Formats: sequence, structure tokens, C-alpha cells
Amino acid sequence: MKPRTTIKIPVARPDIGPLEKKLINEVIDTGWVSSVGPMIRRFESDFARFIGTKYAVAVSSGTSALDLALNVLGIGPGDEVIVPTFTFAASVNSIIHLGATPVLVDSSPDDWNLDIGQVAGAITSRTKAIIVVHIYGIPANMKKLSLLAKRHGLYIIEDVAEAHGAKYNDRAVGAYGIVGCFSFFANKIITTGEGGMCTTNNKRLQDKMRTIMSHGSKPHGSIYYYHQHIGHNYRMTSMQAALGVAQLSRIGDFLKKRHKHEQLYRRLLSGIPEITFSPRPKYTETVDWMHSILVSHPRISRDKIITRLATEYGVGARPFFYPMHKMPPYRSYVKGTYPVADMLSRHGINLPSSSLLTEKEIRYVANAIRNILGI
Ligand SMILES: *Cc1c(COP(=O)(O)O)cnc(C)c1O
Repeated sequence: MKPRTTIKIPVARPDIGPLEKKLINEVIDTGWVSSVGPMIRRFESDFARFIGTKYAVAVSSGTSALDLALNVLGIGPGDEVIVPTFTFAASVNSIIHLGATPVLVDSSPDDWNLDIGQVAGAITSRTKAIIVVHIYGIPANMKKLSLLAKRHGLYIIEDVAEAHGAKYNDRAVGAYGIVGCFSFFANKIITTGEGGMCTTNNKRLQDKMRTIMSHGSKPHGSIYYYHQHIGHNYRMTSMQAALGVAQLSRIGDFLKKRHKHEQLYRRLLSGIPEITFSPRPKYTETVDWMHSILVSHPRISRDKIITRLATEYGVGARPFFYPMHKMPPYRSYVKGTYPVADMLSRHGINLPSSSLLTEKEIRYVANAIRNILGI
């Protein structure tokens, strides 16, 4: 039997300190524990300032943020939404839940994001929106994509779950599309445990989001319990917002540390022809959500490397996302082939990432990889 694996260096670890505890306790002491109260507003205004949008709306998860964005844009049956096949399932599920049709598009080898030439080819008279996912902290080419969307009158929704603070042309991603959707799950760059945020410059959309996310209720003269829309409960709690305010105040430090870690990984694993690091496209400022590599070895498979890292070294590494087009619930949306997504999902490994990583740990991981590859 295989020895039971103890992971000493996990793939992700949240960095939560005394400031987080202090603000959560403040919230608890005031009694404002639901989504009502000042802490949510503070997190929203801090986040809007950080991204550079007029508005930010705190929600219960990154998935709720995507659901809400598509919902307020009126996307539904008969509409097509272009989305990469190489992403996390939530980006695609929101489209299907609203009765619209996802149109899966392959990624570009240059930035691992939507292949914009193929996006252009996928546009039909039914296309309403494009969900662009800034995968693994790498911003997509928002100039080209915005031009294309404008020419065809399409909305751009940004899935920024993996790219808090990343920039394209000096502007933060999440400030380009009509709505930006962020996640604060425990393994993201900042966390609220579970949580998410929609960013927008559109006042009307912001108002509609606040209604839909709270049961669709809106005051109507003197009538209480008046519901203007069929809504949801996508609200965030004030304890989560307290965590978020503290985390956001530390994001500059997190990003700097993660960037240093990426550089160290790159240096320690340089000169190995079997390993390729993630792309750094022109005009972008990437963020190091994960430390992503592609490994192509004639005898040792990617999965074997991940297994050996865990069992022999106690290192938690993860394969890249499995592409949507290969899984049963999404088969009916497959159009053609997706060679780049296939290549990424077959060869990609995400190495341990966290602002808490030490230089010693990174050296240990790099040595483990070198040993496994026999270098
Ligand atoms: C994490 C993630 C989400 C979902 O966020 P949750 O907060 O877990 O709902 C959506 N899209 C991408 C690309 C993600 O990485």
C-alpha cells in the first residue's frame, strides 16, 4: 500500500494575521454581523479604489459575482456567451444556469488566455457577451478584446478570480469590462474565507446588482416586502468583509512577496529544457497567484511528478484545470478542437504558492523537482 502522504508544503496557504482578528472582533462586538452595517461598505469602497472603478459590490463568492454580472446584463435563453474552455468550471456554469449557451474557445499559447482571433470567429448574431478569464494572474490582451467587443456591440465580463491587482497597460484588470468578478476563496490572492466582488463603473448596473443579490427587493412607496425582481441571496457577511478589509490593506506586501517567490522559482529551475514558465506578455503586469510551469519529459509524466512530489517530498502541487470541453456536462457545447487547452491541461503544474512561503521551502520544492527529473 502507498504510504499515507503528509503534505508539509501545501499548494496554497492563506496569510491571516492579527489585523484580521482585530477587525473581525470589532464587527462581532458591534453586533453588525450580517451584510448590514459599515464593514461591508468599507470593504467595497476600499476595493473600488484599489481596482479603480466607481463601484464595487461585495457578494458571497466568485461564483455569485459571475451569476450576478450575467443576470443584471439580462443574459438568458437564446444568448451566446464566449468563454475559454481552459478555465475553472464556475466561469461556464453561470452562463448555463441562466439558460444561455456557452461558446467554448481555445486559448492562445502566447498568454494562455482567450485566443482573440478565435473569439472573432466565434461571434454570431446571438452573441451577447465575452467572459474573459485572466488565468493564473496573467492579464488578457484587453486592448484587442475591447476593440473587438466594441465593434460587435458585446459586453465584456472579466473573471478576475485569479488576478487581483494585475494590470494591462497600467490599468487594473477588473476595470476594463462592464463588470469585473473577483473571488476571495481561501486560496486566492486575498481571502475572506468564501466571498466575491463585482466591480463596475455603471451606476444602473450597480443598483440592479444590489437589488438582485438581496432577494430582488426594492422599496416601493410604503409597501414592505416588495420584490421587483426574482432575486437571490448572494450577500457577504460583515465578518467576511472585516477579513477582506484587513487582507486588502496588506495586498501590496502579498504581491511583492509572491513576485519574489516567482523569481526565485524561475532562477532555481532555470536551464531545464523540460520546464517552461508561464508567459509574461507585453504591456501587462502579472500577479503570481500560482507559480505555474509546463513540464514535458519523455519518460516521467506530469501526473507522476505531482504524485512523487506529494508522497516522497510532502509537497502539494496541482495539475492545471481540466478543460471544459472534455467533461460530460459540457460536451454539447463543444465546437471543433482545442489543442492549446489540451496541451496546457496535460503539461501544467501549479507549485506551492503563498506569501508565507520561505526561501528555504522554495529551495526544497525546486530541489525535489530536480531530483524527480534526475537533473
Ligand atoms: C476561484 C475561481 C472562481 C470561483 O470562485 P469561488 O469564490 O470559489 O466561487 C471562478 N473563476 C475562476 C477562474 C476561479 O479561479
